[in-house]
Amino acid sequence: MKNVNDYFGSLVFDDRVMKAMLSADIYASLKKTIDEESRLDPKVADAVATAMKEWALSKGATHFTHWFQPLTGITAEKHDSFISPAPDGGVIMEFDGKELIKGEPDASSFPSGGLRATFEARGYTAWDPTSYAFIKDKCLCIPTAFCSYGGHALDKKTPLLRSMEALSKQSIRILKLFGKTTKCVKTSVGPEQEYFLITREMYNQRPDLRFTGRTLFGTKPPKGQEMDDHYFGAIKPRVAAYMAELNEELWKLGILAKTEHNEVAPAQHELAPIYSTTNVATDHNQLTMEIMQKVAAKHGLVCLLHEKPFAGVNGSGKHNNWSMSTAEGQNLLSPGDTPYDNAQFLLFLCAVIKAVDEYQDLLRLSVATAGNDHRLGANEAPPAVISMFLGDELNAVLDAIENDTPYAGVDKTPIKLGVNVLPRVSKDSTDRNRTSPFAFTGNKFEFRMLGSSNSIACANIMLNSAVAEVLKEFADELEGADKFEDSLHELIKETIKKHKRIIFNGNGYDDKWIEEATKVRGLSNLRTTADAMPRILDKKNVEMLTGLGVFTEDEIRSRYEIMLENYCKTIIIEANTMIEMAKTQIAPAVESFTAELAKNAAYKKAVDPNLACEYEVGLVRKLSSLTDRIMAKVEELKDAVIYLDRAEDIGSEADMIRDTVLVKMGELRLACDEAEVVTDKRYWPYPSYGDLLFGVY
Ligand code: ADP
Ligand code: MG
Repeated sequence: MKNVNDYFGSLVFDDRVMKAMLSADIYASLKKTIDEESRLDPKVADAVATAMKEWALSKGATHFTHWFQPLTGITAEKHDSFISPAPDGGVIMEFDGKELIKGEPDASSFPSGGLRATFEARGYTAWDPTSYAFIKDKCLCIPTAFCSYGGHALDKKTPLLRSMEALSKQSIRILKLFGKTTKCVKTSVGPEQEYFLITREMYNQRPDLRFTGRTLFGTKPPKGQEMDDHYFGAIKPRVAAYMAELNEELWKLGILAKTEHNEVAPAQHELAPIYSTTNVATDHNQLTMEIMQKVAAKHGLVCLLHEKPFAGVNGSGKHNNWSMSTAEGQNLLSPGDTPYDNAQFLLFLCAVIKAVDEYQDLLRLSVATAGNDHRLGANEAPPAVISMFLGDELNAVLDAIENDTPYAGVDKTPIKLGVNVLPRVSKDSTDRNRTSPFAFTGNKFEFRMLGSSNSIACANIMLNSAVAEVLKEFADELEGADKFEDSLHELIKETIKKHKRIIFNGNGYDDKWIEEATKVRGLSNLRTTADAMPRILDKKNVEMLTGLGVFTEDEIRSRYEIMLENYCKTIIIEANTMIEMAKTQIAPAVESFTAELAKNAAYKKAVDPNLACEYEVGLVRKLSSLTDRIMAKVEELKDAVIYLDRAEDIGSEADMIRDTVLVKMGELRLACDEAEVVTDKRYWPYPSYGDLLFGVY
C-alpha cells in the first residue's frame, strides 16, 4: 500500500522541488515573486525553465503547455513537445525562459466579446508564478493568464489576480491605521464541490445528458430524497472506489482533497478540499472538475457537474468559503482577543457587510448561468435574493454598537470600540443556517450561490473587488481623521445603520422573506441570468471595477456579451435537443405503444365484440391526444427559436429566451412527461429518473 506522504504533490513543481533544483539566489528571487507578488526577474526565468524541463522529463513528460482559463469557463491547453532536431538525426529536449514566460496560442476561436477581431487572432499567455506548474497526461502544464495584444484580459485569471491585488493594497492601508505592517493580504478559498454520479451506460442512452449535461425530460421517481437517507449515508462500494482513485489523482497534483460524503439527493456527492490562496484554489477547482470526470470514465461512470441534472431533485452547488489574511497568517475575519483586535475585526466585518449590500447585483451576476438559474430563484437553496447571516452573537454586538446600548453579558456600559473586549464568538453558534446565501461561519464567509459547474474565479473577482472598494472608502475616511478611535466607532455605527438591511437570519427559502426582502428592504431579486447580467453595465459597477483596475470598460462590456451569449447558446442547444428527442424518439415511442394498445383492443373485440376494452380505448385516446400535443408543442418551440433571429442585440435575445423559449420548453416537457408515466416502460426510449438515480450500486 502506498503512503499518501510518498506521492502527495509528486506531479507538482512545488516548493520542495524548486528548493532542491534551483540555486539559492534563483530560488530566493522566485520565492520573492511568489510570496510578495512582485515582478519576476527575467534572468530567473531561464534557470527556472531548465529546472522545470529536467524535472518534467524525469517524470516522463514529453510536452509542455500554457494552461489557461478562457471565458468559456473551462480550461484550455495546446501541447508542444520539448523535441528539437539534433544534427545527428536524433532530437534534444528544449525549453527556455521565453517559452516559460510567454506563449502565443492562436486565440481566434476563444470568446472575446468583440475585444479582438479575428484578423488579429493572436493573444498571448503569461506565466503566473504564484500557481505551481504540474504534470497532467505527460504534459507539463504552466498556469498562465491570457490577454490580447491590446492588453485586454481574455480570461478569468487576469482579473482575479487584479482583484486580489486591489484587496491587498486597501487592506494594507487599513492595517496601517491599526499600527500594523504586512507585505500583502491574501484571500483564501475552500470550495465545496457537489456532483452526481450515474452509470456511463445509462448516460449514453440519454441525448439530453450528452448534449446539455441535464435531463430535459423525466418525471420524479416514486422515491427521491424525502427519506433523508442519502445525506451522509454509507458510501456504496463502487462510489467509494471512485472516490479513492479520485483522491489519489488529486493528491498527486497537490490538491488538498479533504472531505467526501453523500449529499441530499440519491446519486449526489460532495468533495471539499482544504482552503488555499484564491488563485491557486481556482486552478485547483478547475483541475478537480476535470479529474472528477476523467476518473469517472475509468469506473464506467459519468460525473454530472450541471447545476440541475434532474428536475424536482436537489441541484448541485459550490460553496465558496472565503477569508482574508495577512502575510503573517492573521485571519482578518477572526474576532481577536484584545479590544484593539476586536475593533479591527469589526471594521473588516462591516466592510464585507457594506460590500455585499452595495454590490449584491454583482455577486448575483457573478454566479449567473443558464444552469444555475434552475437553482437560484426556483424554490431551491439559496434564493436569488442576496442576504447575509451573521449569527446571534454578532448580531447582538452590532445592535449594541448601533444603538449605543450595553451588550448583554458584558458590562453595563455601552460598547466602546477599542475599549471593550467582545465576547468570543463561538464557531458553532455562527452557522447552521443552511438557507443563507452568504453566511459568516466563525472566521470566514461562505458564499453559497455558486453553481456546481461555475469557475470560482468570477464570484471571487466580484467579492474581492467589492470589499476592496469599501476598504478604500474606509481608509480614505479614517486616514484623515483627527481622533482615529472616535471616527472608527462612528464609521462602524453608520455602516451598520445603513447596511443592516442585508442581514437576515431567518429562513431564506420562505416566500415571505422574498416579499419582505424585495418590498420592504429594497433588495434586488434577479431571478435569471437575463435579468442579472445587464446590471454589470450599471454606472456604479463600472466605476467601481474600472476604478480599482480590475477591468477596463471594454473588458466589462465583452464579459457582458460573452456571458449572455453563453446563456442564449446553452438554452438554444437545449431547445434543439428537446425538439429532436420529442420528434424522433418520444413521439414515435408513444405512437408505437398506442398502436399496440389499439391492436390489442381490436384483437380482443374480434374474440368478443362485447368486451369493453376500457383500458385500451381510454389510453389510446389519452396517448393519441398527447402525441398531438407533443407535436404541436414541438412546432411552437421551433417557432420560438426561429423568432430569436429578430432580436436586435444579445440583451433582447436573452429576454426573448427567458420569456418565450424557456416557457415553450416547459410546455413541451410537461406533455412528454405526462406521456412517460402512462407509456409501457418497454417502449420508452430512455432510462427513467429512477433508473438514473438508483443505477449505481
Ligand atoms: P462545513 O461548511 O461543511 O461545515 P467547514 O466549514 O469545516 O465545513 O469547511 C468548509 C470549507 O471551508 C473547507 O474547504 C475548508 O478548508 C474551508 N475553510 C476553513 N477555514 C477557512 C478559512 N479561514 N478561509 C477559507 N476557507 C476556509
Ligand atoms: Mg460549508
